[in-house]
Amino acid sequence: MIEYNVSLLPFNTFQIDVKATGFARFSSVSILSNLLKTCSIRPLLIIGGGSNLLFTKDVDAFVLKNEITGITILKEDEKNVIVEVGGGEVWHEFVCWTIEHGFGGLENLSLIPGSVGASPMQNIGAYGVEIKDVFEHLYAFNLATNEEEKFDASACRFGYRDSVFKQELKNKYVITRVAFRLTKQPIVNTKYGAISDELAKKGITEPTIKDVSEAVIAIRQSKLPDPKVLGNAGSFFKNPVVSVTLAEKVKEEFPSAPIYPVNENEAKIAAGWLIEQTGWKGKKIGFCGVHTLQALVLVNYGGSTGNEVFSMSQSIIDAVKEKFGVELEREVNIW
Ligand code: FAD
Ligand code: NAP
Repeated sequence: MIEYNVSLLPFNTFQIDVKATGFARFSSVSILSNLLKTCSIRPLLIIGGGSNLLFTKDVDAFVLKNEITGITILKEDEKNVIVEVGGGEVWHEFVCWTIEHGFGGLENLSLIPGSVGASPMQNIGAYGVEIKDVFEHLYAFNLATNEEEKFDASACRFGYRDSVFKQELKNKYVITRVAFRLTKQPIVNTKYGAISDELAKKGITEPTIKDVSEAVIAIRQSKLPDPKVLGNAGSFFKNPVVSVTLAEKVKEEFPSAPIYPVNENEAKIAAGWLIEQTGWKGKKIGFCGVHTLQALVLVNYGGSTGNEVFSMSQSIIDAVKEKFGVELEREVNIW
Protein backbone atom coordinates (compact mmCIF):
# COMPACT_ATOMS: atom_id res chain seq x y z
CA MET A 1 0.00 0.00 0.00
CA ILE A 2 1.34 3.41 -0.95
CA GLU A 3 0.60 6.27 1.46
CA TYR A 4 1.03 9.97 0.78
CA ASN A 5 2.14 12.86 3.03
CA VAL A 6 3.21 10.50 5.79
CA SER A 7 4.86 11.66 9.04
CA LEU A 8 8.29 10.07 9.40
CA LEU A 9 8.32 10.67 13.17
CA PRO A 10 7.89 6.94 14.00
CA PHE A 11 10.54 5.98 11.44
CA ASN A 12 13.62 7.85 12.68
CA THR A 13 15.31 7.48 16.06
CA PHE A 14 16.24 11.19 16.14
CA GLN A 15 12.48 11.74 16.50
CA ILE A 16 12.40 14.50 13.89
CA ASP A 17 8.91 15.26 12.63
CA VAL A 18 8.99 15.66 8.84
CA LYS A 19 6.70 14.37 6.09
CA ALA A 20 7.42 12.00 3.21
CA THR A 21 5.69 12.64 -0.13
CA GLY A 22 5.21 8.88 -0.59
CA PHE A 23 5.73 5.92 1.75
CA ALA A 24 5.46 2.14 1.43
CA ARG A 25 6.82 -1.02 3.01
CA PHE A 26 8.14 -4.04 1.10
CA SER A 27 8.57 -7.58 2.39
CA SER A 28 9.93 -9.14 -0.81
CA VAL A 29 11.84 -8.20 -3.94
CA SER A 30 8.74 -8.68 -6.10
CA ILE A 31 6.71 -6.29 -3.90
CA LEU A 32 9.56 -3.77 -4.13
CA SER A 33 9.66 -4.15 -7.90
CA ASN A 34 5.87 -3.64 -8.19
CA LEU A 35 5.96 -0.56 -5.94
CA LEU A 36 8.60 1.00 -8.17
CA LYS A 37 6.41 0.38 -11.24
CA THR A 38 3.25 1.69 -9.56
CA CYS A 39 4.56 4.89 -7.99
CA SER A 40 6.44 7.51 -9.99
CA ILE A 41 7.59 9.65 -7.05
CA ARG A 42 11.35 10.04 -7.18
CA PRO A 43 13.97 10.14 -5.77
CA LEU A 44 13.80 7.06 -3.57
CA LEU A 45 14.88 6.78 0.04
CA ILE A 46 15.33 3.27 1.44
CA ILE A 47 15.09 2.99 5.19
CA GLY A 48 15.44 0.29 7.81
CA GLY A 49 15.21 1.34 11.45
CA GLY A 50 15.95 5.03 10.75
CA SER A 51 18.75 4.98 13.35
CA ASN A 52 21.45 6.58 11.23
CA LEU A 53 19.46 9.34 9.58
CA LEU A 54 18.89 13.05 10.22
CA PHE A 55 16.02 14.71 8.36
CA THR A 56 16.65 18.44 7.89
CA LYS A 57 13.54 19.01 5.73
CA ASP A 58 10.43 17.27 4.46
CA VAL A 59 11.39 14.25 2.40
CA ASP A 60 10.13 14.97 -1.10
CA ALA A 61 10.78 11.37 -2.14
CA PHE A 62 9.30 7.88 -2.18
CA VAL A 63 10.37 6.37 1.15
CA LEU A 64 10.56 2.57 1.10
CA LYS A 65 10.88 0.66 4.36
CA ASN A 66 12.64 -2.67 4.12
CA GLU A 67 10.67 -5.45 5.85
CA ILE A 68 12.22 -8.50 4.16
CA THR A 69 12.57 -11.12 6.90
CA GLY A 70 13.95 -14.64 7.27
CA ILE A 71 17.07 -16.36 8.59
CA THR A 72 18.45 -19.29 6.55
CA ILE A 73 21.45 -21.51 7.23
CA LEU A 74 23.07 -21.89 3.80
CA LYS A 75 25.97 -24.15 4.75
CA GLU A 76 27.60 -25.61 7.82
CA ASP A 77 30.36 -27.92 8.96
CA GLU A 78 31.85 -28.68 12.40
CA LYS A 79 33.59 -25.32 12.54
CA ASN A 80 31.57 -22.73 10.64
CA VAL A 81 28.10 -21.80 9.56
CA ILE A 82 26.97 -19.45 6.82
CA VAL A 83 23.72 -17.69 7.66
CA GLU A 84 21.74 -15.54 5.20
CA VAL A 85 19.40 -12.96 6.69
CA GLY A 86 16.60 -10.79 5.27
CA GLY A 87 17.53 -7.11 5.17
CA GLY A 88 14.44 -6.12 7.17
CA GLU A 89 15.34 -8.25 10.20
CA VAL A 90 16.12 -6.20 13.32
CA TRP A 91 19.90 -6.31 13.82
CA HIS A 92 19.92 -6.92 17.57
CA GLU A 93 17.26 -9.65 17.32
CA PHE A 94 19.44 -11.42 14.75
CA VAL A 95 22.50 -11.08 17.04
CA CYS A 96 20.45 -12.65 19.87
CA TRP A 97 19.51 -15.51 17.51
CA THR A 98 23.22 -16.18 16.76
CA ILE A 99 24.02 -16.26 20.47
CA GLU A 100 21.12 -18.63 21.25
CA HIS A 101 22.48 -20.98 18.56
CA GLY A 102 26.07 -20.73 19.90
CA PHE A 103 27.33 -19.09 16.68
CA GLY A 104 30.16 -16.65 17.46
CA GLY A 105 31.25 -13.51 15.65
CA LEU A 106 28.58 -10.88 16.25
CA GLU A 107 28.44 -10.73 20.07
CA ASN A 108 30.46 -7.47 20.25
CA LEU A 109 27.87 -5.89 17.96
CA SER A 110 24.98 -6.48 20.40
CA LEU A 111 22.35 -3.78 20.86
CA ILE A 112 23.24 -1.75 17.76
CA PRO A 113 19.89 -0.35 16.57
CA GLY A 114 18.65 -0.76 13.02
CA SER A 115 18.20 -3.41 10.38
CA VAL A 116 20.40 -6.15 8.94
CA GLY A 117 20.04 -4.57 5.46
CA ALA A 118 21.67 -1.33 6.61
CA SER A 119 24.54 -3.05 8.43
CA PRO A 120 26.86 -3.19 5.39
CA MET A 121 26.14 0.47 4.53
CA GLN A 122 28.67 1.76 7.04
CA ASN A 123 30.25 -1.60 7.91
CA ILE A 124 28.80 -1.27 11.41
CA GLY A 125 31.32 -1.72 14.16
CA ALA A 126 31.76 -1.64 17.91
CA TYR A 127 34.20 -2.88 20.53
CA GLY A 128 36.88 -3.92 18.04
CA VAL A 129 34.63 -5.85 15.62
CA GLU A 130 33.17 -4.78 12.27
CA ILE A 131 30.74 -6.75 10.11
CA LYS A 132 33.43 -7.05 7.43
CA ASP A 133 35.18 -9.50 9.81
CA VAL A 134 32.36 -12.04 9.38
CA PHE A 135 30.82 -10.92 6.10
CA GLU A 136 30.22 -13.59 3.43
CA HIS A 137 28.11 -11.91 0.70
CA LEU A 138 25.03 -9.80 0.14
CA TYR A 139 22.31 -9.45 -2.46
CA ALA A 140 21.25 -5.99 -3.56
CA PHE A 141 18.49 -4.91 -5.92
CA ASN A 142 19.81 -2.62 -8.65
CA LEU A 143 17.31 0.24 -8.98
CA ALA A 144 18.40 0.99 -12.55
CA THR A 145 18.06 -2.55 -13.94
CA ASN A 146 15.47 -3.99 -11.48
CA GLU A 147 17.69 -7.03 -10.94
CA GLU A 148 19.30 -8.51 -7.85
CA GLU A 149 23.10 -8.68 -7.85
CA LYS A 150 25.48 -10.56 -5.57
CA PHE A 151 28.33 -8.64 -3.87
CA ASP A 152 31.30 -10.25 -2.16
CA ALA A 153 33.38 -8.42 0.47
CA SER A 154 35.79 -6.85 -2.02
CA ALA A 155 32.90 -5.50 -4.14
CA CYS A 156 31.46 -3.87 -0.99
CA ARG A 157 34.76 -1.97 -0.45
CA PHE A 158 34.34 -1.90 3.32
CA GLY A 159 36.24 0.78 5.19
CA TYR A 160 36.05 2.41 8.61
CA ARG A 161 32.27 3.06 9.00
CA ASP A 162 32.14 3.03 5.22
CA SER A 163 31.33 0.96 2.12
CA VAL A 164 30.66 1.42 -1.58
CA PHE A 165 26.94 1.75 -0.66
CA LYS A 166 27.67 4.90 1.35
CA GLN A 167 29.75 6.29 -1.54
CA GLU A 168 29.14 5.99 -5.28
CA LEU A 169 26.38 3.37 -5.01
CA LYS A 170 24.40 5.37 -2.44
CA ASN A 171 20.65 5.24 -3.23
CA LYS A 172 21.37 3.06 -6.29
CA TYR A 173 20.84 -0.35 -4.66
CA VAL A 174 18.56 -1.86 -2.04
CA ILE A 175 20.33 -4.41 0.14
CA THR A 176 17.87 -7.29 0.37
CA ARG A 177 19.82 -10.14 2.06
CA VAL A 178 23.12 -10.34 3.91
CA ALA A 179 25.11 -13.51 4.67
CA PHE A 180 27.58 -13.93 7.52
CA ARG A 181 30.22 -16.61 8.19
CA LEU A 182 29.98 -17.41 11.90
CA THR A 183 31.95 -19.85 14.00
CA LYS A 184 30.83 -22.78 16.10
CA GLN A 185 34.13 -22.61 18.02
CA PRO A 186 34.08 -19.01 19.16
CA ILE A 187 37.18 -17.17 20.35
CA VAL A 188 35.85 -14.12 22.15
CA ASN A 189 37.31 -10.66 21.56
CA THR A 190 37.48 -8.71 24.82
CA LYS A 191 40.44 -6.48 24.02
CA TYR A 192 38.45 -3.24 24.33
CA GLY A 193 39.06 -2.06 27.89
CA ALA A 194 35.41 -1.57 28.81
CA ILE A 195 34.47 -5.21 28.06
CA SER A 196 37.21 -6.77 30.16
CA ASP A 197 36.42 -4.37 33.03
CA GLU A 198 32.72 -5.32 32.88
CA LEU A 199 33.56 -9.06 32.85
CA ALA A 200 36.02 -8.63 35.72
CA LYS A 201 33.34 -6.81 37.71
CA LYS A 202 31.16 -9.95 37.39
CA GLY A 203 34.09 -12.26 38.20
CA ILE A 204 33.99 -13.92 34.75
CA THR A 205 37.41 -15.20 33.68
CA GLU A 206 36.47 -17.48 30.78
CA PRO A 207 33.70 -15.59 29.00
CA THR A 208 31.29 -17.19 26.55
CA ILE A 209 29.78 -15.27 23.63
CA LYS A 210 26.69 -14.76 25.80
CA ASP A 211 28.82 -13.22 28.57
CA VAL A 212 30.44 -10.85 26.07
CA SER A 213 27.06 -9.90 24.61
CA GLU A 214 25.67 -9.21 28.10
CA ALA A 215 28.75 -7.13 28.99
CA VAL A 216 28.37 -5.06 25.80
CA ILE A 217 24.66 -4.55 26.50
CA ALA A 218 25.38 -3.43 30.09
CA ILE A 219 28.08 -0.95 28.97
CA ARG A 220 25.93 0.47 26.18
CA GLN A 221 22.90 0.88 28.47
CA SER A 222 25.04 2.70 31.03
CA LYS A 223 26.38 5.37 28.67
CA LEU A 224 24.22 5.64 25.56
CA PRO A 225 20.81 7.31 25.46
CA ASP A 226 17.91 5.01 24.58
CA PRO A 227 16.44 6.46 21.35
CA LYS A 228 12.95 5.56 22.57
CA VAL A 229 13.46 7.99 25.44
CA LEU A 230 15.81 10.59 23.97
CA GLY A 231 16.02 11.08 20.21
CA ASN A 232 19.49 10.40 18.75
CA ALA A 233 21.27 8.52 15.98
CA GLY A 234 24.26 7.21 17.92
CA SER A 235 27.66 8.69 17.13
CA PHE A 236 27.02 11.76 15.04
CA PHE A 237 30.65 11.96 13.86
CA LYS A 238 33.25 9.39 12.85
CA ASN A 239 36.43 9.11 14.88
CA PRO A 240 38.87 11.02 12.66
CA VAL A 241 41.72 9.07 11.11
CA VAL A 242 44.59 11.55 10.77
CA SER A 243 48.25 11.50 9.76
CA VAL A 244 50.68 10.26 12.42
CA THR A 245 52.29 13.73 12.28
CA LEU A 246 49.06 15.46 13.27
CA ALA A 247 48.32 12.80 15.92
CA GLU A 248 51.78 13.31 17.44
CA LYS A 249 51.24 17.08 17.50
CA VAL A 250 47.93 16.62 19.38
CA LYS A 251 49.58 14.13 21.79
CA GLU A 252 52.44 16.54 22.51
CA GLU A 253 50.04 19.29 23.49
CA PHE A 254 47.45 17.00 25.16
CA PRO A 255 49.27 13.93 26.57
CA SER A 256 45.99 12.34 27.72
CA ALA A 257 44.49 12.34 24.19
CA PRO A 258 43.05 8.87 23.34
CA ILE A 259 44.88 8.06 20.10
CA TYR A 260 44.98 4.58 18.53
CA PRO A 261 47.31 3.45 15.72
CA VAL A 262 45.58 2.55 12.43
CA ASN A 263 48.63 1.81 10.26
CA GLU A 264 52.20 3.10 9.81
CA ASN A 265 51.05 6.48 8.58
CA GLU A 266 47.71 7.04 10.27
CA ALA A 267 46.15 7.14 13.73
CA LYS A 268 42.58 7.44 15.04
CA ILE A 269 41.64 10.07 17.61
CA ALA A 270 38.51 9.54 19.75
CA ALA A 271 36.11 12.20 18.44
CA GLY A 272 34.16 12.22 21.73
CA TRP A 273 37.31 13.35 23.55
CA LEU A 274 38.03 16.09 20.97
CA ILE A 275 34.49 17.44 21.37
CA GLU A 276 34.70 17.27 25.15
CA GLN A 277 37.89 19.38 25.12
CA THR A 278 36.08 22.15 23.24
CA GLY A 279 33.52 22.39 26.06
CA TRP A 280 30.58 21.08 24.00
CA LYS A 281 29.82 17.99 26.12
CA GLY A 282 26.42 18.39 27.83
CA LYS A 283 25.67 21.74 26.10
CA LYS A 284 22.06 22.40 25.12
CA ILE A 285 20.88 24.79 22.42
CA GLY A 286 17.10 25.14 22.22
CA PHE A 287 15.65 21.64 22.02
CA CYS A 288 18.83 19.81 21.03
CA GLY A 289 22.20 19.26 22.62
CA VAL A 290 25.30 17.15 23.13
CA HIS A 291 24.70 14.15 25.39
CA THR A 292 25.95 14.55 28.95
CA LEU A 293 27.67 11.12 29.07
CA GLN A 294 28.96 10.73 25.50
CA ALA A 295 29.95 13.85 23.54
CA LEU A 296 29.81 11.99 20.20
CA VAL A 297 26.04 11.66 20.50
CA LEU A 298 23.83 14.63 19.62
CA VAL A 299 20.35 14.43 21.11
CA ASN A 300 16.87 15.80 20.51
CA TYR A 301 15.35 16.76 23.86
CA GLY A 302 11.93 16.93 22.13
CA GLY A 303 10.67 19.21 19.40
CA SER A 304 14.03 19.96 17.79
CA THR A 305 14.21 20.32 14.02
CA GLY A 306 16.82 18.51 11.98
CA ASN A 307 18.21 21.87 10.89
CA GLU A 308 18.87 22.85 14.50
CA VAL A 309 20.79 19.61 15.05
CA PHE A 310 22.66 20.07 11.78
CA SER A 311 23.71 23.63 12.55
CA MET A 312 24.85 22.61 16.05
CA SER A 313 26.94 19.86 14.43
CA GLN A 314 28.59 22.52 12.21
CA SER A 315 29.48 24.62 15.27
CA ILE A 316 31.08 21.52 16.83
CA ILE A 317 33.05 20.76 13.64
CA ASP A 318 34.30 24.39 13.61
CA ALA A 319 35.27 24.33 17.32
CA VAL A 320 37.26 21.07 16.93
CA LYS A 321 38.95 22.35 13.77
CA GLU A 322 39.97 25.57 15.51
CA LYS A 323 41.36 23.89 18.63
CA PHE A 324 43.05 20.82 17.11
CA GLY A 325 43.28 21.38 13.35
CA VAL A 326 41.25 18.15 12.94
CA GLU A 327 38.27 18.01 10.57
CA LEU A 328 35.36 15.96 11.96
CA GLU A 329 33.19 14.14 9.42
CA ARG A 330 29.51 13.41 10.02
CA GLU A 331 28.71 9.69 10.24
CA VAL A 332 24.93 10.13 10.20
CA ASN A 333 23.21 10.24 6.78
CA ILE A 334 21.73 13.70 6.21
CA TRP A 335 18.61 14.24 4.12
P1 FAD B 1 18.66 3.66 8.48
O1 FAD B 1 18.93 4.73 9.47
O2 FAD B 1 17.25 3.35 8.18
O3 FAD B 1 19.43 3.99 7.14
C1 FAD B 1 20.79 4.39 7.19
C2 FAD B 1 21.31 4.59 5.76
O4 FAD B 1 21.31 3.35 5.07
C3 FAD B 1 20.42 5.53 4.92
O5 FAD B 1 21.26 6.22 4.04
C4 FAD B 1 19.51 4.56 4.18
O6 FAD B 1 19.04 5.09 2.96
C5 FAD B 1 20.44 3.37 3.95
N1 FAD B 1 19.77 2.07 3.94
C6 FAD B 1 19.05 1.53 4.97
N2 FAD B 1 18.66 0.29 4.64
C7 FAD B 1 19.12 0.05 3.38
C8 FAD B 1 19.03 -1.06 2.48
N3 FAD B 1 18.40 -2.19 2.81
N4 FAD B 1 19.61 -0.95 1.26
C9 FAD B 1 20.27 0.19 0.90
N5 FAD B 1 20.38 1.26 1.70
C10 FAD B 1 19.82 1.19 2.93
N6 FAD B 1 26.48 2.18 14.32
C11 FAD B 1 27.64 1.47 14.41
O7 FAD B 1 28.29 1.21 13.40
N7 FAD B 1 28.09 1.02 15.61
C12 FAD B 1 27.44 1.24 16.78
O8 FAD B 1 27.88 0.82 17.84
C13 FAD B 1 26.23 2.01 16.72
N8 FAD B 1 25.55 2.33 17.86
C14 FAD B 1 24.42 3.08 17.80
C15 FAD B 1 23.76 3.39 18.99
C16 FAD B 1 22.59 4.15 18.95
C17 FAD B 1 21.90 4.48 20.26
C18 FAD B 1 22.06 4.58 17.71
C19 FAD B 1 20.77 5.35 17.66
C20 FAD B 1 22.72 4.29 16.53
C21 FAD B 1 23.93 3.54 16.55
N9 FAD B 1 24.63 3.22 15.38
C22 FAD B 1 25.78 2.46 15.44
C23 FAD B 1 24.15 3.69 14.07
C24 FAD B 1 23.07 2.77 13.42
O9 FAD B 1 22.46 1.96 14.38
C25 FAD B 1 23.64 1.89 12.31
O10 FAD B 1 24.25 2.66 11.34
C26 FAD B 1 22.58 0.99 11.68
O11 FAD B 1 23.18 0.06 10.82
C27 FAD B 1 21.52 1.77 10.91
O12 FAD B 1 20.51 0.86 10.54
P2 FAD B 1 19.07 1.36 10.12
O13 FAD B 1 18.32 0.20 9.62
O14 FAD B 1 18.45 2.11 11.24
O15 FAD B 1 19.43 2.34 8.93
P1 NAP C 1 34.88 4.20 24.14
O1 NAP C 1 35.04 2.81 24.60
O2 NAP C 1 34.65 5.30 25.13
O3 NAP C 1 36.14 4.59 23.25
C1 NAP C 1 36.20 5.87 22.59
C2 NAP C 1 36.70 5.66 21.18
O4 NAP C 1 38.03 5.18 21.24
C3 NAP C 1 35.87 4.65 20.46
O5 NAP C 1 35.08 5.32 19.56
C4 NAP C 1 36.85 3.67 19.86
O6 NAP C 1 36.90 3.72 18.44
C5 NAP C 1 38.21 4.08 20.38
N1 NAP C 1 38.81 2.94 21.10
C6 NAP C 1 38.61 2.60 22.40
N2 NAP C 1 39.38 1.52 22.72
C7 NAP C 1 40.05 1.20 21.59
C8 NAP C 1 41.00 0.20 21.28
N3 NAP C 1 41.42 -0.69 22.19
N4 NAP C 1 41.48 0.15 20.02
C9 NAP C 1 41.08 1.03 19.08
N5 NAP C 1 40.18 2.00 19.33
C10 NAP C 1 39.69 2.10 20.57
O7 NAP C 1 33.70 4.27 23.04
P2 NAP C 1 32.12 4.30 23.23
O8 NAP C 1 31.63 5.59 22.75
O9 NAP C 1 31.74 3.81 24.57
O10 NAP C 1 31.69 3.22 22.17
C11 NAP C 1 32.03 1.87 22.35
C12 NAP C 1 32.00 1.17 21.00
O11 NAP C 1 30.68 1.23 20.45
C13 NAP C 1 32.93 1.82 19.99
O12 NAP C 1 33.50 0.82 19.20
C14 NAP C 1 32.01 2.69 19.15
O13 NAP C 1 32.43 2.83 17.82
C15 NAP C 1 30.70 1.91 19.21
N6 NAP C 1 29.56 2.84 19.12
C16 NAP C 1 29.26 3.34 17.90
C17 NAP C 1 28.19 4.19 17.75
C18 NAP C 1 27.80 4.70 16.39
O14 NAP C 1 26.72 5.25 16.25
N7 NAP C 1 28.62 4.51 15.39
C19 NAP C 1 27.43 4.58 18.86
C20 NAP C 1 27.80 4.07 20.10
C21 NAP C 1 28.87 3.19 20.22
P3 NAP C 1 35.89 2.93 17.47
O15 NAP C 1 34.65 3.74 17.47
O16 NAP C 1 36.61 2.97 16.18
O17 NAP C 1 35.67 1.56 17.98
